[in-house]
Amino acid sequence: MTEINFHGATFEQSAPSIRECPPESGAEVAFAGRSNAGKSSAINALTQNSKLARTSKTPGRTQLINFFRVGEAQKLVDLPGYGYAKVARSMKEQWQENLSEYLQKRECLRGLILLMDIRHPMQEFDTMMINWAVEIEMPVHILLTKADKLKRGPAQNTLFAVRKQMKEAGVEDLVSAQCFSSLKRDGVEELKTQLTEWLTLQN
Ligand code: GDP
Repeated sequence: MTEINFHGATFEQSAPSIRECPPESGAEVAFAGRSNAGKSSAINALTQNSKLARTSKTPGRTQLINFFRVGEAQKLVDLPGYGYAKVARSMKEQWQENLSEYLQKRECLRGLILLMDIRHPMQEFDTMMINWAVEIEMPVHILLTKADKLKRGPAQNTLFAVRKQMKEAGVEDLVSAQCFSSLKRDGVEELKTQLTEWLTLQN
């Protein structure tokens, strides 16, 4: 399998909407999650570059789709965080539209990393993203983030419960899950393996 140099990730560009995304080429994997799920921290842990996913924490700021290059033809895509309580309803709807449009139309997208705080998994946004992805047979890999906040037993139980839910929904072939801690760097290798598999997949 081709090695992907995650540590060599470089910022490529930001796009306010699908229309302004860079042209389709190579392979992409996107990262999505509710605001505060730990997306920037996870991207930082993965790339060991703390400047890369410096997201604005200001509610109401323009939400951009950010593209990071990790290889000649491979990109990671940081999708706008979702769910600031203070953001107007119209803006939330705009984000939803952007996200679903990106998922549905972006042909070089190989998979979706969906981040959820392990203490609050499977919120409305998460099931919405999973449903959109499953509808178009897009594989999803769930990161149960901040796993260090729970003891090992409860963390594993949450992981098993999420997997069981996927099995019961009949989507276990498309949706996988793991525990993750940016703080402890737990789960980074497992994440890299999944990303590498998707990014080096031949069309
Ligand atoms: P984002 O909004 O999804 O980009 O989330 P951030 O990466 O900014 O993280 C949100 C908050 O959770 C911050 O206060 C982080 O320090 C904290 N956080 C993120 N990852 C971890 C983790 O692995 N362990 C712990 N304990 N806290 C984390």
